[in-house]
Amino acid sequence: MKAASFDYARPTSTGDAIALLGTGAGMNKPVAGGQSLGPMMNLRLAQPEMLIDLRAIAALDGWVDVPDVEPDAIVLGACTTHAAIEDGKVPDPTRGLMPYVARNIAYRAVRNRGTIGGSLAHADPAADWINVMALLDAQYLVTGPGGSRIVGNAGWMSGAFTTALAEDEILTGVRIAKLSASARWSYYKFNRKPGEFAEAIAAFVVDPVRGICRAVIGAIEATPFVIADASPLVDGWNEPFARAQLQAAGLAPDTYEYRIHAVALERAAQALSAPNMSLTGKAE
Ligand SMILES: Cc1cc2nc3c(=O)[nH]c(=O)nc-3n(C[C@H](O)[C@H](O)[C@H](O)COP(=O)(O)OP(=O)(O)OC[C@H]3O[C@@H](n4cnc5c(N)ncnc54)[C@H](O)[C@@H]3O)c2cc1C
Repeated sequence: MKAASFDYARPTSTGDAIALLGTGAGMNKPVAGGQSLGPMMNLRLAQPEMLIDLRAIAALDGWVDVPDVEPDAIVLGACTTHAAIEDGKVPDPTRGLMPYVARNIAYRAVRNRGTIGGSLAHADPAADWINVMALLDAQYLVTGPGGSRIVGNAGWMSGAFTTALAEDEILTGVRIAKLSASARWSYYKFNRKPGEFAEAIAAFVVDPVRGICRAVIGAIEATPFVIADASPLVDGWNEPFARAQLQAAGLAPDTYEYRIHAVALERAAQALSAPNMSLTGKAE
């Protein structure tokens, strides 16, 4: 099957892109890498009248160091590709976590075109960046006809494939606070073979300098489940606490989904003891 016919525009500024979005009565859509929207259009699950290609907007493809009071942060432009993160072409505020995650997304052809902003706007619960941003408590920078606004992580995704973005708004970037030199992280993605979306995700970040001990249970067909204080799973393994978190994430005990997420959570916690060591055994 092929996509229904559509018009195509390639604006060079965010303002022009938003103006074009506003002309479509909800039928015009931004496109970045096209790696999620393209297949949906080919299946005719999406039939936009006009595609507004964001890739010629230089401001969406860069990065900015944000020297906040505490802590410093990086803003990554929405059109930053997975490959640019994998290859270190943009600064990594996460001490190896983001490049590690990037190189385990799909395969290189997808990573060359797919963007962090496209992934976060698509908000597939099984995708990687939506779970990593929840782990990092990132902020989302949004611009629309009324100006710009910042959406905190908790306000971004309200359910599968649903975000705080209005039809005439664009995600311009994501703001990520820098982890300190003493931070540790782990990321466990359960999928049957490389290149497939996750069936379960679990991740931890511990940063004593910033007072963070957080975990995420992801790929749960809903918003990533954030464990704000994961210390019962980090300072030893508290099994009743783990069970309670998995159930609070909506996983029913004795189901396949519960079991793979339980294993993912425990393996991610174990991986923290090998500093920033991936679960395939490669040191970061
Ligand atoms: C074979 C295959 C395997 C994959 N495996 C994985 C995987 O393992 N893990 C993973 O995380 N992902 C995976 N993906 C998805 C991939 O990461 C996509 O690149 C990503 O989900 C979408 O990014 P994109 O830039 O291609 O967005 P697009 O497809 O261009 O857009 C996706 C949606 O977001 C909207 N959009 C795009 N950019 C913006 C913006 N800046 N502001 C507002 N709205 C915007 C579009 O209108 C559309 O609705 C896979 C994809 C394929 C094809």
